[in-house]
Amino acid sequence: MSAAILSGPPAAQALLDEARDRAARLPHRPELHVVRLGEDPASVSYVSLKERKALEVGLGSTVHALPDTTTQPELLALIERLNADPAVSGLLVQLPLPAHIGSGAVLEAISPEKDVDGFHPVNVGRLWTGDAALPPCTPAGVVALLDYYRVPIAGRWAVIVGRSTIVGKPLAALLLARDATVTIAHSRTQGLASLTRQADLLVVAVGKAHLITPEMVRPGAVVVDVGVNRVGLSKSGKARLAGDVHPDVAEVAAALTPVPGGVGPMTVAQLIMNTVLAAERLQAGERVT
Ligand code: NDP
Repeated sequence: MSAAILSGPPAAQALLDEARDRAARLPHRPELHVVRLGEDPASVSYVSLKERKALEVGLGSTVHALPDTTTQPELLALIERLNADPAVSGLLVQLPLPAHIGSGAVLEAISPEKDVDGFHPVNVGRLWTGDAALPPCTPAGVVALLDYYRVPIAGRWAVIVGRSTIVGKPLAALLLARDATVTIAHSRTQGLASLTRQADLLVVAVGKAHLITPEMVRPGAVVVDVGVNRVGLSKSGKARLAGDVHPDVAEVAAALTPVPGGVGPMTVAQLIMNTVLAAERLQAGERVT
């Protein structure tokens, strides 16, 4: 058996197309604002991808590129200004931040109504009460990918490996809201393989290349690989990427997401959709809080 490949780009494009259609129906163009501190190459490249995708679907996009010497009060003052600006629909501060800035205080300063990353405690709380107004992008992207390929979720036993606040935990909330039975595993879990072998739906978000091997997967399971690990350089000098799931799992699973080209494109597409969702609510005069 060889697993069906759940490719990210077509599913991401469907989400982007929906975002474009919904944005076009709004009285005012949704505007995404991204604040970036310093010139970390990974952050520069993520932010320019977000900007490109926003422009591609007809949203406005502004990047506030500040020096890494920016103080916390200066950053908070900018956030306050963008919070108050009715033309701004979505606002995010690219992480990680320099060490002298408290990221908790920064994330809490962003208006929950504009928090398109879904990291504000109000949005985290809403996620767990079943009203995911602005869900975090990677887990919501995973659910959108499963929906695109019509993978059933309700009643399935989902095992999530990884309990970070940006992937594992919020994904558990989203899958629970879709009536999956959810188990979360982490670095202190005993007998990981015996758990993962129970899963109808196995999602791995750890950051360890090829952690999940074929013996750890139930034949016929659907496997989503969130992990992105740099494993050396290609001949052209570009980083070679590997997922958390060993490629041989394709011999056991019914379906598998590739790395790269699986969950990655969904994350940025969901960010664009969140910007449209935020704009819809703001322009309808509704409040998320
Ligand atoms: P974190 O480092 O924040 O969390 C990793 C989780 O994995 C932790 O809960 C940790 O457990 C758990 N873990 C570590 N080792 C093991 C192990 N041996 N067995 C079981 N669990 C283990 O990572 P993130 O959630 O931020 O990211 C995870 C991966 O997903 C990374 O590769 C990252 O690059 C990728 N990623 C990809 C995105 C995309 O768009 N494609 C977006 C976000 C992340 P404990 O809590 O006990 O420490």
